[in-house]
Amino acid sequence: MKLKPTKIVAVGLNYRDHAAELKLPLPDEPLLFLKPPSAVIGEGEAIVCPPQTKELHYEAELAVVIRDRAKNISEADAPARILGYTCGNDVTARDLQRKDGQWTRAKSFDTFCPLGPKIVSGLSPDKLDIKLYLNGELKQSSNTANLIFKVPYLVSYISQVMTLEPGDVILTGTPAGIGPMRAGDRVRVEIAGIGALNNVIAEAK
Ligand code: MG
Repeated sequence: MKLKPTKIVAVGLNYRDHAAELKLPLPDEPLLFLKPPSAVIGEGEAIVCPPQTKELHYEAELAVVIRDRAKNISEADAPARILGYTCGNDVTARDLQRKDGQWTRAKSFDTFCPLGPKIVSGLSPDKLDIKLYLNGELKQSSNTANLIFKVPYLVSYISQVMTLEPGDVILTGTPAGIGPMRAGDRVRVEIAGIGALNNVIAEAK
């Protein structure tokens, strides 16, 4: 599976446990940012650690894949526009995120958006266990029931801003437990009912 979205719309700070971990108040609206399509890789491909960062982080996320064009749609109409769900890793250069004051560079390096292993349709996104393992060790463990803004709300909210096209991806935010990865590490995002997305970390050549 290799997705070719026209854009990846990501949501920052969308799990209660992650907001608590960062000692931040719960947001009253979704915080949106974009990742470029050029960052997408698939199951088994390498995340390349760029030389510009000393702090490469993983973020396990439920990814929503859009089926039909969506513009100004209601929450009630959102489920019919969704093709299905897959696992995502919102790879982030945490030091650059702090330094730049906005997130484009930190979130956008090539290979910073692993997605896969497959798109699962007909799944309810409301109560799925989500886990991340680094070298086999459990680092993130939560459930999509902890999402502050739920999937239909996000699709509707984003569609009030930009037209969602078929194949576009929404990354719904990461739970508590974010942390660093280094060259040679193996990272695995597991979501119940979907499967597992495995990637290795490689040094930039
Ligand atoms: Mg994220």
